Amino acid sequence: MTQYDLIIKNARLVRADEADVKLMDIGIRDGKFSAFAPHLRVEDAREVVDAGGKLAFPGVIDVHQHWGIYNDLREDAVSESRASAQGGVTTGLTYMRTGQYYLNRSGPYADLMPEVLQATEGHSHIDFGFHLAPIEREHIDEIPSIIDDLGVPSFKIFMFYGGHGLHGRSAGQDSFLMLRDGQRYDYAHFEFVMRGIQQAREERPDIADAISLSLHCETAEIMRAYSEIVELRGGARDLAAYSDSRPPHSEGLAITIASYLAHETTLPTINLLHLSSRKAIEAAMMMQSTFPHIDFRREVTIGHLVADISTATGTAGKVNPPLRPREDVEALWEHLLAGHFSWVTSDHACCREEMKFGDPRNDVFAAKSGFGGAEYLLPALVSEGRRRGLPMHKVAELTSTTPAARFGLTTKGQLQVGLDADLALVDDDASWTITAEESASTQEYTPFEGFELTAKVTDTFLRGRTILRGGEIMGVAEGRYLHRPTSR
Ligand SMILES: [Zn+2]
Repeated sequence: MTQYDLIIKNARLVRADEADVKLMDIGIRDGKFSAFAPHLRVEDAREVVDAGGKLAFPGVIDVHQHWGIYNDLREDAVSESRASAQGGVTTGLTYMRTGQYYLNRSGPYADLMPEVLQATEGHSHIDFGFHLAPIEREHIDEIPSIIDDLGVPSFKIFMFYGGHGLHGRSAGQDSFLMLRDGQRYDYAHFEFVMRGIQQAREERPDIADAISLSLHCETAEIMRAYSEIVELRGGARDLAAYSDSRPPHSEGLAITIASYLAHETTLPTINLLHLSSRKAIEAAMMMQSTFPHIDFRREVTIGHLVADISTATGTAGKVNPPLRPREDVEALWEHLLAGHFSWVTSDHACCREEMKFGDPRNDVFAAKSGFGGAEYLLPALVSEGRRRGLPMHKVAELTSTTPAARFGLTTKGQLQVGLDADLALVDDDASWTITAEESASTQEYTPFEGFELTAKVTDTFLRGRTILRGGEIMGVAEGRYLHRPTSR
């Protein structure tokens, strides 16, 4: 009997806790890493892959995706997990909620999640899990069973939804969120969601660290007023106008409200999602020093790190919070290099051509929000990060180790014996141009069209199986649903 199912030879290991990248062979058995050594005997393996000196990163854990928001969930599970594998992503956590879009229904998560799992299990090429948003009052009572029975210990609040909807043209919160009985999706609701989550944490001390709340921080009132100002002002209805209609101080204000509510409700595990501007990250750092007892995580997306209102491909770059002017992108990098961000995600939301653009096509206010990007997550971060002096071991920390720890993915997140053999090989001597055509996503356009990168994911392995080889998707969908925390 052979000792390893697979040996990957000559890989430069990128580990969050090692500043130096070391050339090693990787032995994999039963889907787990079983050895890292300068030389493993190829006779001991059923299969051998020569990495030829490429970088080996722990598989990317992209903790902000949106499968099924605009398309059939089952179709997205297939195509968007394939696109994810192209970006070195081996685990995707998708936000899911009741209301319009997604499954377009209301009611308890106990009823919704079996439907979600039926549409995704057996269809994904990467491992996956979900975050759930308590929208209805009854969802707060479901928090304990969402954690224990559904394996979802992470929750979300969309701070602006109650007053603004998804695209800024909500007919009203009742119809958009499908709220019944005069319920409101407002700060009071957010407070009670936090209290519900904190109570669940207190009742589960052994897994409390893995139970957290993520917030999309923008304020409906500010964006409503500024949307009106931008409309009245007239002029181009482009990405610059969209950024003006949802100004950075709307993010900053939402962050301070979220943080104070976390303080008031004693919920310490707060994730501030996709901060897009200098004001947003500065507000988040202010809150960190004001409330040192809150265990914040701060997120930035690859889109906000590589594109601005002038470089993205027009209306294709509409997203919430918006892409910003160049000086905000520079500020995000300043803070990323200073260690102020906890992880980088894609916020992947496949929004196909026919869905994305309104009439006229270049009117940003008529377009839908969101786009894919998981396929560029690791290559773009390595490319742009290297240029700016971000060490590679920090890339591993930001894309795998920290998100795994926060979200209870205890079998993942590091190149370490005993953990799931999830990894991505990156050719850091490649130069290529992003084109939507090469993506496995069904989106068919990208706001990053024409962007030049200097690193490419060539091979991706999920639990020791090749899911991407030489840039081609391999094999069948063997991704598993991850009931979290995974060690239970
Ligand atoms: Zn999102």
